[in-house]
Amino acid sequence: MAELANCTRCDTLYVKTMRDICQGCYQEEEAAFKVVYRFLMDQKNREASMAEIVEVTGIDEALIIKFLKEGRLQASQFPNLAYACEQCGTSIVSGRICSHCTAQLKQALNEHEALQTKSQSKHKSDKDKTNTYYFFK
Ligand SMILES: [Zn+2]
Ligand SMILES: [Zn+2]
Repeated sequence: MAELANCTRCDTLYVKTMRDICQGCYQEEEAAFKVVYRFLMDQKNREASMAEIVEVTGIDEALIIKFLKEGRLQASQFPNLAYACEQCGTSIVSGRICSHCTAQLKQALNEHEALQTKSQSKHKSDKDKTNTYYFFK
C-alpha cells in the first residue's frame, strides 16, 4: 500500500516518496532551482546578495535558503549569499547552524555525557557502600 502524506508546501495529499513535497511542488522547486542556479552561474552575478537574487529571479528567499541548506547551492562559492544560523541568527554559508553554535552544541552534549557517566559511577559507589555495610553486619 502506498503511504499518503500532505505536501509540506501546498498541503495536497500525495503518495509519499523520499520527498516531503508533492510531485507538482517538486517540479516547481526544480524549475526554481534552475532559475537561481543559472543566475548564479553567470560570472557577474556571483557576488549578488540574497535580496538581489530574490528580486531578479522572483524565487522565494525561503526556497533559496532551502537549496543552500540542502547543499545544492554552495553559499561558500557566493560571498554574499549568507543566511541566518537557526540558533542565533548569525550569517552562515553552510549547514544549518554557525560554527559557534555547533561548538556550543557539542560542548553541551559532552557535558551531558560526562554528567551521565558521573551519576552512573556515583550510583555504583553507593551500591558498593551498601554491600560493604551488609558485609560487616
Ligand atoms: Zn505540493
Ligand atoms: Zn549560531
